[in-house]
Amino acid sequence: MSENSRRAPEISALVGLLCLASLLAGVLAAGPAHAQDPARLRADVEYLASEALEGRASGTPGADAALAHIAAKMKAIGLEPAGTDGYLMPMQAATHVGAGPTASLRIGERVLAAGVEYRPAGFSDDVAFDDEVVFAGYGLSMPALGYDDYAGLDVQKRVVLVFSGAPAHLDAGLEPIHHHQLSSEAKAALALAMGARALLIVNAPSHHGSNAGQRPDALYAMRPALALQGIGVAHLTARAAHSLFPTTDNKLEELQASIDAAQRPASRPLAIRAQGTLDVQRRITTIYNVVGKLPTKAKSSGAPVILGAHYDGLGHGHYGSFSTAGHEIHPGADDNASGIAVLLETARQLSARPPKKGFAPIYFVALAGEEIGLRGARHMAHHLRTQSAPADAIFVNMDMVGRLRPEGLNAATSQADTSLHTLLHATANRHRLALLLEPLHARHSDHTAFFEAGFTALNLTTGRHGDYHMPTDTIERINWAGLTAVARFVEALVRALAAGL
Ligand SMILES: [Zn+2]
Repeated sequence: MSENSRRAPEISALVGLLCLASLLAGVLAAGPAHAQDPARLRADVEYLASEALEGRASGTPGADAALAHIAAKMKAIGLEPAGTDGYLMPMQAATHVGAGPTASLRIGERVLAAGVEYRPAGFSDDVAFDDEVVFAGYGLSMPALGYDDYAGLDVQKRVVLVFSGAPAHLDAGLEPIHHHQLSSEAKAALALAMGARALLIVNAPSHHGSNAGQRPDALYAMRPALALQGIGVAHLTARAAHSLFPTTDNKLEELQASIDAAQRPASRPLAIRAQGTLDVQRRITTIYNVVGKLPTKAKSSGAPVILGAHYDGLGHGHYGSFSTAGHEIHPGADDNASGIAVLLETARQLSARPPKKGFAPIYFVALAGEEIGLRGARHMAHHLRTQSAPADAIFVNMDMVGRLRPEGLNAATSQADTSLHTLLHATANRHRLALLLEPLHARHSDHTAFFEAGFTALNLTTGRHGDYHMPTDTIERINWAGLTAVARFVEALVRALAAGL
């Protein structure tokens, strides 16, 4: 400390401030450590969540405008096109479904009421059946966990009846990332593999674990999907399913209770026939992932880092909405304009200051059709697999990152991999970001498709909230400072992953 400053501390403080300011200005001019611009993040979120895009439902002009915006930004940023058609990666998807004109279901002598007692699943194929019904418990085959509803059961050309969900003991023991095995699609694929012609999924009379909160007489909404070829699938209310057991009213409860108590299957033929067709009308549309790659002067090496976020939304909420009030626009500001904004901002930062040579290839992927069954993610994961992407490639997903809370950013990983955990913690600490590490959950987002294809997967989110899948998911509720903090963290994380740290 100088003489002068001791005598005149206020002047010294002022000089200090000026020095700090000029130092800061110098750093900014030279390229700051953190150049993420909240205004730029905000501009992308605002455009994607604007009324003009009408919630970006797959196959609508709003989704097309979103992908054009993203592709133009990727080009302006200087990413190399890495789709199958420039930046684009087209694929077929069903964007609208409705019960087919010949859909019918009769069990025993009773004709069930469509839309009241049963509803075809969105992925149902139009297979005509008139066959014996076989009860197959929860429709699960998990030999590793000592449980197989199909053990010793012949369901060839039969109609299989199963409960939704899983027995209580499995539900409790199942890792969240394996929960996809409990989905209707997975149960149908298994029944099909066992030779069944149709699958009837009954809302289990009592609910636990992953099925908690389900109402026994509520039918699932039909979600747009391509047909799972070779099997008809419908959901039945518990009440309708009682018609399969004409002698007692509570046979379903008894069956479920006996499986749950004994922790053993109770599969058996039911000595009743089911007849019908569970056909679905679909609108098939081409949808597009948008894919860019960070250009490299030197040859990049190592397992690719794939940063992804879905850009589609719920549109007017014809499927997947929690809103009960008509068909308002679901802007999807948090879900998932926020993720796309961070994707683009991260691309800008990496493009402006590319990592030094020797880093792994970095892909930026705006994924299509997440809300209609992870279509874009499944397609991209399959594409990378056929391009023989190494298994140690990592997919980093961002879905709903715009509502950072004081508790921090949720980071879910597929591995009990301590090195990835260490890297996540170190990066978060460096950026003074609180981090909540979680096990990866299959139900939440696109990472599931990559995990299933054998990739290491990481899901980043600031968590669900009351506006999730609601018309109130608006830009006013985005935490812009939080979004910027997430963007800084993501840039640092991608740099570290690409450097093989
Ligand atoms: Zn989402």
